[in-house]
Amino acid sequence: VSFDERYAAHTPKSGELFARAGRVIPGGAGSSARTVKFGWKPYPPFIASGTGSRITDADGNEYVDYLLGLGPMILGHRHPVVTAAVTKAISDFGTCPGLPYELEIEAAAKVVEAVPGIEMVRFSNSGSEVVGSAVRLARAYTGRRLIIRFEGHYHGWQDTVYWSNHVDPAEAGPADAPRPVAAGPGVPLELTDTLIVLTWNDPDSFRRVMAERGHDVAAVITEAAVFNTGCILPEPGYLELLREETSKAGALLIFDEVITGFRFCRGGAQEWFGVTPDLTTLAKGLGGGFPVAAIGGSKDVMGMIAEGRYSHSGTYNANVVACAAVSATMDLLAEPGLYERQRKVGDRLAEGLRKLAADAGVPVRVDGLGTVFQVWFSDHPIKNWRDAERYANVDRFTRWYQEMFLRGVLFHPSQYENLFVSLVHTDADVDRTLEAAAEVFPVLA
Ligand code: PLP
Repeated sequence: VSFDERYAAHTPKSGELFARAGRVIPGGAGSSARTVKFGWKPYPPFIASGTGSRITDADGNEYVDYLLGLGPMILGHRHPVVTAAVTKAISDFGTCPGLPYELEIEAAAKVVEAVPGIEMVRFSNSGSEVVGSAVRLARAYTGRRLIIRFEGHYHGWQDTVYWSNHVDPAEAGPADAPRPVAAGPGVPLELTDTLIVLTWNDPDSFRRVMAERGHDVAAVITEAAVFNTGCILPEPGYLELLREETSKAGALLIFDEVITGFRFCRGGAQEWFGVTPDLTTLAKGLGGGFPVAAIGGSKDVMGMIAEGRYSHSGTYNANVVACAAVSATMDLLAEPGLYERQRKVGDRLAEGLRKLAADAGVPVRVDGLGTVFQVWFSDHPIKNWRDAERYANVDRFTRWYQEMFLRGVLFHPSQYENLFVSLVHTDADVDRTLEAAAEVFPVLA
């Protein structure tokens, strides 16, 4: 029996909803990352509810959830404290005053206190928005136009950065000097000259480009650990090199911490790896599941906004839902021992998966850190997009996703996404996942 038939028998109601949705919503889902094209075949499961680490689909099937909304549900679904804080704030106050208010200061102060590179912060609504703003702010601050970004990273859908995400190497050319390739139609190709795209974790090409063009570079934007190509950690010294070379050249270093923020520890990847950028973008974990994003940085750079020399605007910026969610989430993340405990839960899962795969003779690398990792179907180390594209067995990953899904474990069907472990996943979730994996790895051998 094919997977599609088993899936249809498992999720008939989702099948009906998908047919209905497709008549009014393009692709039947609200974001392209939720569509058939992005791997949700033959159709995405429709969700009825979620609580903590578990999510239930429209057919009543429960899953241990490692998708976590693609990252925001860092505290699990419907965290009672965040939900109560948001509910109270909007019933006491409203949602969108269009002027500053006290709760906004509280939320901002907590982010400043938590994240080492943030001395001042502005709230917006999505990662794409704040990345777009950070790139323009860096250009305004330096008076330069060139941006360096890396293949395999995703920084949202704005024209300035929607390039070379998961690029075809045949189109991009050699790994040590790739060409920028627009990630989709509609991006003005005139922007090509405003970008240099490089291979991540490759110090030599970075050093060479900075020696040649450093004086023209406004900013280097990077994920501090790459979570848009599975999960790839920086090689020792690599983030330090980015810091050193950008400082030397008078360019800004932007850490796009939309995923990495609050993920390994409360101060994000910059605290974890001990490298402080000039600008930071935050989103997913920031609001404990509510839509909010932030751009923050040094007083010097953010001073451009303070002095009115750079306009960062938005009708819904720092709305009441967002600020109440940020404030409550920051408090919850400050619980002593929280991250240590969760990293242990996630590490046990990662270790268990490694062992089960090895026992079944399936070549697998589980890369990442407790609260987020990916199961790479590869026996070769993966340091950047070129390695991922070359060495990962995507078909085997798809079968792994399919078999785990039918056994009640949910994660994204793409090898280039990852598994998120929330701060409320438990050892019982890990046990259930490992039981499923013990059945699945032997089938994949
Ligand atoms: N930056 C990174 C690192 C991301 O992973 C994403 C989204 O996945 C974005 C930016 C864009 O964020 P959003 O989807 O909220 O616009």
